[in-house]
Order: sequence, then structure tokens, then C-alpha cells
Amino acid sequence: MFDQNKARLQPLVEKLRTEGVGNWIGGKRAKAASGKTFETRSPVDNSLISEVARGGAADIDAAAQAAKAAFPAWRDYPADKRRKLMHAIADRIEASADEIATLECWDTGQAWRFMSKAALRAAENFRFFADRCVSARDGQNLPSADHWNVSTRTPIGPVGVITPWNTPFMLSTWKIAPALAAGCTVVHKPAEWSPVTANLLPQLAKEAGLPDGVLNTVHGFGEEAGKALTEHEAIKAIGFVGESATGSAIMAQGAATLKRVHFELGGKNPVIVFADADLERALDAVVFMIYSLNGERCTSSSRLLVQKSIADEFLEKLSARVKHLKVGHPLDPATEVGPLIHERHLGKVCSYFDVAKQEGLQILVGGARHENQAGHFVQPTLVRADANSRLAQEEIFGPFLTALTFETEEEAIALANNVRYGLAGYIWSGEMGRALRVADALEAGMVWVNSENVRHLPTPFGGMKSSGIGRDGGDYSFDFYMETKMVSLARGAHKIQKLGA
Ligand code: NAD
Repeated sequence: MFDQNKARLQPLVEKLRTEGVGNWIGGKRAKAASGKTFETRSPVDNSLISEVARGGAADIDAAAQAAKAAFPAWRDYPADKRRKLMHAIADRIEASADEIATLECWDTGQAWRFMSKAALRAAENFRFFADRCVSARDGQNLPSADHWNVSTRTPIGPVGVITPWNTPFMLSTWKIAPALAAGCTVVHKPAEWSPVTANLLPQLAKEAGLPDGVLNTVHGFGEEAGKALTEHEAIKAIGFVGESATGSAIMAQGAATLKRVHFELGGKNPVIVFADADLERALDAVVFMIYSLNGERCTSSSRLLVQKSIADEFLEKLSARVKHLKVGHPLDPATEVGPLIHERHLGKVCSYFDVAKQEGLQILVGGARHENQAGHFVQPTLVRADANSRLAQEEIFGPFLTALTFETEEEAIALANNVRYGLAGYIWSGEMGRALRVADALEAGMVWVNSENVRHLPTPFGGMKSSGIGRDGGDYSFDFYMETKMVSLARGAHKIQKLGA
């Protein structure tokens, strides 16, 4: 399988080197108006993958105008036809899943075992929202004594979608599929560190029959293309996934044009393990939820809170598992942890190894770069810290777990909530009453009890505090991409005040 994956990669990279990665505007590939490009390199060995169009305000304007022109026809496109078209896009994503996964492994450093599934999840996202097209406009019936009041929904207009570099293809479909299903047209600005799979989506969508201009992609840097998108007058809303600080910047940039914003931001998610839990399953989940996807995952449980009475034994078992994680080439199906996305991110994660040393913390496993220094590999790391350590407060976004201990349920809750983030929380306990009390008290948008992050697409996805504004998933996504309109019909001749009579 490793050889097969490498063989599949070869021609794909050759094609990218020759053709480069362009923008996609109005159904056509386009160079940046300025003619500028930037490089994307593989985290495996720092080799050049491709030159990428460096879009700016002019490219964003062209894409926003294309999205604006395509909007009326897409808004009025019959829902059942839209449903079929979105399933046809999902079919094509499935047919290209190996290609998408291969490129994504090479461009982002994520391991094949996860990326091969992520590509299929992207198709699932399209299918899920395809089936909801038909009910997207549904509203409520709220009759009063004199009036028949009904609500209905209409798509808000052309929208901007700005995505980060972790699982980039899948994550972009999570934002783009509901926008298209709602009847919005889209300008997508993918992350500059993971551009190569972004153009596959509009290409596959065009092959499936998506009208030109409905989905446009402009590559480039956040402070250039991204900023221009958030400021564009034709763009009615911004669906953004990325860092909390970028979310604040986007809110300020969008203020002049009163942009509606939806933010999925950073996290420092606790996993709380009580002594009465099924500790074998808890151990599996703790390892999976921080070391899968290189720990570059917003919902990763990067803070382990373990009850004191079992802490030594649990941490010993955990250390053994972390030591045995297979770090390696992302296209090798045996690999569990691949290289980090970019040398700047490598520098950031390594700086936390220094923090651990400066703070005199107990490094149980790892704490340094990996022996393979050709790429951005680090040793999976486990550090014991206390609540106010920077390691327990800041989002590291790598295969780096910070372990804390607690004695009582109250202490566990206080520790869990003692961060500025509030995305997800995980509770392991054999006592359902306790699990429910803690779930209720956690300041987090999503809580899993005796489980890892198992997604069910109709459920709300999003965070509290500095982790976000708004929810995705099911009907929640439509609330963001659509305007709710109320229509009130008089039932008869109710009394109207006569002024100036
Ligand atoms: P980032 O905020 O640096 O970049 C995200 C995107 O925003 C990129 O496309 C970037 O070009 C763009 N951008 C940057 N500055 C901009 C500006 N001023 N205006 C407009 N666009 C701008 O984030 P990242 O480093 O790519 O991604 C990692 C972060 O994403 C982590 O904090 C992670 O927790 C978060 N994340 C959150 C979720 C979630 O659902 N809550 C999911 C995945 C990732």
C-alpha cells in the first residue's frame, strides 16, 4: 500500500509542478491578476510541490462578482435538482478520494490512515446537505388571533468561506456544502499552507454540472486575499475556521460592510478521566484524541485531567502507548503521526518543548524534534504540568499532551473551565449522574461522555468563549447561510387605528 501510494503521488506532483495551482473563478482556472505566485512545499522533506497563485484584492473582486452574477439563478435552482447535483458532486469526490488523500498527505503531513477517511467524509458532507436542500427553506407556522404568521428562509447571497490547513479538503466541504445547499454562491479562500487539494472541489463540481460562478476559489495569504474577501461589499457573510486571533481580525475587517460572521476557532479541550471509568477505553480515547491527525485538530483533547487516585498508573500506561506511536512518512499506512504542516508551525510546537524545560515540568515522553530532521517531524510528547502552566493554557496544535491531576469532581470542573477556550470536552466516568453533572457544568460547545469525537452531522458543532460564534451542522448551518423572513397575513378585518380621520 505504501508503494502504491507513492506511485500514485508521483504523476500528481509532476502535473502540479508543470501546471501550478491557479485560482478558480467563474468556472475557469485563472492566474493571479498580479501574476504573483507563492510556493507550497511538502512537510515530509521540504521539497517543492507547486507554485500557487497569490491572489489579492483584484482576484477576490473578480470572484465576488462571479458569485454575485451566479446568485439569482442558483438561489432559484429547483431544490430537487440541487439535491441531485450535490449527490453527483459527492460521487465524484468518492471516485477521486485516493487522489485527494494522497495529495493531502503530501501537502499537509497528515497520515494516510486518517486522510483516506477524511476524503470520504467530504463526500458524506455533500450527501448529508444534498438531502437537506429540499427542506432548506422550511419555516414555522406561528398563528395569532388575527393573523396567520409564517416564517420562511431565503439564502443570504454570495458568501465567503475561509478555511485553515488542518484536514483542509474535508473541512472546506463542511462549510461549502451547506452554503450551496442553502442556495448561496461561494468564494473560498483556502489556507496558504495547504492549497493543493482546494481546486479539486470546484473542478469536480463543474464536471458534475455545477453552474459557473457558483463556487470560486482564490488562493493567497490571509492579510491579502483573506482580508479583501472579508471587506468585499458583495459578500454577505463569512464562514471562518481558524485561530481565535484571526477571528477577531475578521470581525473588525467585516464591520464596515456589516458582515454576518460564523467562527470556528481554537481549543484547549479537556478530557476528564475519573477513577470509576472504564480505564482501558479511556486510555484508547485519550491517545487517539491528541495523537491522531498529528494533534493538529481543533477538537483534540490536549489537556488530560486525571483523578489522583489512579494518576500514576494511568500515566504509566499512557506513557507506554505514546512511546510506541509510529512516527513516519504520511503515505505509509502504518504511520500514526506524520510531520507537522510547516516549518513555522514546527518552530511553534518546539518552542513549547522549551517552555516545559523552562518551567521545570516533568516530561514523561518526547519533548524534542524527531531523529528524522529532513522533514517537520517531532516526537509525540506527554508532559505533566499544573493548571497555570502555559502548556495547560495555550493551544499548541501538535502531538503534545499536557496532563494535570485532580481530587474531586468540583476540582475537575474548575480545572476544565480554567481556560479562555470552550470548544469541546470529554468525560470518562462509570457513574452516569456524575457524567451528567460535569457535562452540564463544562463551558464547552460540545461534550462527549465515554466517547471520543464521534460526529453525527445533524448535531450542533461549535464552541463557546474564545472558541467560536455560532454552530454548524444540520439546520444550524442553514440558520447562518439564510435569512429568516416573516410573512404575516390578516385572517379577517381586525381593528386598525384610524389616525387623522
Ligand atoms: P489561521 O487563523 O492562521 O488561518 C485560517 C485562515 O484564515 C487561512 O486561510 C488564512 O489565510 C486566513 N486568514 C489569516 N489572516 C486573515 C485575515 N486577516 N483576514 C482574513 N483571513 C485571514 O488558522 P490556521 O493556523 O490555518 O489553522 C489552525 C487554527 O484553526 C487552530 O487554532 C485551530 O484550532 C483552528 N480550527 C478550528 C476548528 C473549529 O471547528 N473550531 C476547526 C479546525 C481548525
